[in-house]
Amino acid sequence: MKFLLEHNLYKTARWLRFLGCDVRVIDGPVRKNEIISQKDRIFITTSERWKAILIDAGIQYQVVPRENWKIQLCMIINRFNIPTELQFDRCSRCGNYLELVARDKVKERVPEKTYENTGEFYRCAACDKMYWLGSHHDRIKKRLDEIMDQEHA
Ligand SMILES: [Zn+2]
Repeated sequence: MKFLLEHNLYKTARWLRFLGCDVRVIDGPVRKNEIISQKDRIFITTSERWKAILIDAGIQYQVVPRENWKIQLCMIINRFNIPTELQFDRCSRCGNYLELVARDKVKERVPEKTYENTGEFYRCAACDKMYWLGSHHDRIKKRLDEIMDQEHA
């Protein structure tokens, strides 16, 4: 699923990427042309002001509350039926796909203990951020379950 988010929704963007969504975040103030030229993306906004333009252009959208990213995330997940399975195939920082890196190439770049205990390392081809499956994976999954439970209650 492809989304376009406002800059202030960057935290929500990170979580959508954990779920495997293709997420772009607008850098800076939103311009009409930027939304229209990416029609294939569902636009997520905190502002009602784009409504008429979005409807007119036939762009799918969701208005979310400004403050609470957990509510934002739940609203988007529920509205678009996004499976809450962590994917970790995309960079949470910039949204590009991750690629497997040879172990000997990462030795200098990760903590020694992590290197010894981890079999596979990934990097983002676009921004070079390193990833590996570790305890943070379980923490993120637990956090997501908590958020979804809370917001449903
Ligand atoms: Zn990246």
